[in-house]
Amino acid sequence: MEHIPRSKLTAALNNPEKVWDVIIVGGGATGLGAALDAASRGYQTLLLEQADFAKGTSSRSTKLVHGGVRYLAQGNISLVREALNERGLLSKNAAHLVTNQSFIIPNYEWWGGLFYTIGLSLYDLLAGRLGFGRAKHISKKQVIARLPNIQQKGLYGGVVYHDGQFDDSRLAINLAQTCIEQGATVLNYFQVVNLIKDSQGNITGVVATDAETGETYPIKGKTVVNATGVFVDELLTMDKPGKKPMVRPSQGVHLVLSRSFMPGGDALMIPATDDGRVLFAVPWHDKLVVGTTDTPLDNHSLEPAALPEEIDFILRTAGRYLTKQPAKADVLSVFAGLRPLAAPEKDSSTTKEISRSHKLVVSGSGLITITGGKWTTYRKMGEDTIDRAIVVGKLNPSPCKTRDLPIHGSMAGVDSSSHLYVYGSDEAALLQFAGEDAAWKEKLHPRLPYIAAEVVWGVRYEMARTVEDILARRVRALFLDARAAIDMAPTVAALIAAELNKDAAWKKEQIDTFTLLAQAYLLEPYFPAGSPATPI
Ligand SMILES: Cc1cc2nc3c(=O)[nH]c(=O)nc-3n(C[C@H](O)[C@H](O)[C@H](O)COP(=O)(O)OP(=O)(O)OC[C@H]3O[C@@H](n4cnc5c(N)ncnc54)[C@H](O)[C@@H]3O)c2cc1C
Repeated sequence: MEHIPRSKLTAALNNPEKVWDVIIVGGGATGLGAALDAASRGYQTLLLEQADFAKGTSSRSTKLVHGGVRYLAQGNISLVREALNERGLLSKNAAHLVTNQSFIIPNYEWWGGLFYTIGLSLYDLLAGRLGFGRAKHISKKQVIARLPNIQQKGLYGGVVYHDGQFDDSRLAINLAQTCIEQGATVLNYFQVVNLIKDSQGNITGVVATDAETGETYPIKGKTVVNATGVFVDELLTMDKPGKKPMVRPSQGVHLVLSRSFMPGGDALMIPATDDGRVLFAVPWHDKLVVGTTDTPLDNHSLEPAALPEEIDFILRTAGRYLTKQPAKADVLSVFAGLRPLAAPEKDSSTTKEISRSHKLVVSGSGLITITGGKWTTYRKMGEDTIDRAIVVGKLNPSPCKTRDLPIHGSMAGVDSSSHLYVYGSDEAALLQFAGEDAAWKEKLHPRLPYIAAEVVWGVRYEMARTVEDILARRVRALFLDARAAIDMAPTVAALIAAELNKDAAWKKEQIDTFTLLAQAYLLEPYFPAGSPATPI
């Protein structure tokens, strides 16, 4: 593994005359997908992320690589077919991170078995050769055997189908690594604060600030891609003040519970909740992720907060289908994400009908904005974006290479009995690395499997800069058990400080900041004894 220090990456910005072929703003799924597409076609590519990779929506998904059963129900066949095709490609290109997950739809109506078996067989058919396994009807007895905690009253039977599951922020980190391997420069903690234009009003670059040093860089580019998720309108407004919003955020919340609520290996899918939405309960890293909601919002933030009614809705709905009913005290973590849905042309008060397919728009100035879509389709979104960038920036045409480009770490047949499987082909090197220092093999918390070596590894090889980068997105402690994550913060801060040569004040600030941030992932405040962040 090559250690690429941040200073080496920022050095690429020191030449103000350098003209990049493609500058991408935003380091979530969409921006990383576009950067990988551009770099692998041979274009000089720069990606700037204001916080950490996947800090926004891309670490807060339901963790499904899927065609979207619900879009099938809405008759959106081409969207489902495209996503199923991408699901198949991703399961090959990031084989270490995408697993085949079985889902059970319990049927409480006599017609449910036939209806969902037919619908899901069509879903499988649309996947063609890239299918994940055939949907089939199962008896009431089989449903109960596979989902022992399922509500049995009124149950007729069930339908099993297959979809993909993944670790969203780990994929984002692996994409950033692949971008670098393909020659791109990708930087976290770099915010684009302005656009540069020529006398005709065409975009010729961006102004960006290094959040760590406060230094500001003018950067020239033949094309600029706005891949900022729910933030797209901020760049569009920099381009054209007073513009009508392109995105309407819709919040989705998940609760994380212990596996005791659904001990088997199957996931539960409720196709129609009280308000006509879909609810998933999916095993993930030895916990259960339950969600989601769909709440239209008028504002956006990097740390959206779950609303009390969203939490109640998930607990109430899950409770209707489980005999051991989850309560607030059982919630290990709650996380909220914002869907960057393309705003409707006409005003609409609901978000259900707003298109989930992606939207690519080129402004008069040449700013290319890509938004909407889903994690599953990030590669296709990247391909479409760079196809357009070639035209806008008059780049030398080169075909897309990402359809079968392996993503960093990709390896078939990983052994998921060890939590280190997410490192894929890096796992062996990480284990060897852990052997270099006896303290690095130590577990960071008794309730979670993570070891100290992963922190040092995250800093050296995965561009982690803060306690939050490690605990939220390199390992997933914050999302799996927020109290355990808070307990881990001092050890993690000490390990990072030793790597990055930071002082005691930095450590204290990191622990305080993380402890406060993590409160939003809990339903009751948690400040361990002696916590420096305890509020007055
Ligand atoms: C609740 C929920 C569940 C979902 N579940 C699934 C699922 O199971 N499967 C699936 O396929 N999809 C799912 N999705 C959709 C998927 O998560 C999103 O489509 C995807 O993550 C969007 O990625 P993005 O890169 O467009 O946005 P983001 O991930 O939000 O990335 C945008 C980035 O731009 C950065 N940025 C903003 N302004 C600037 C600036 N000025 N300078 C530099 N950087 C900037 C932000 O910091 C942010 O990191 C889900 C979405 C939600 C909300």
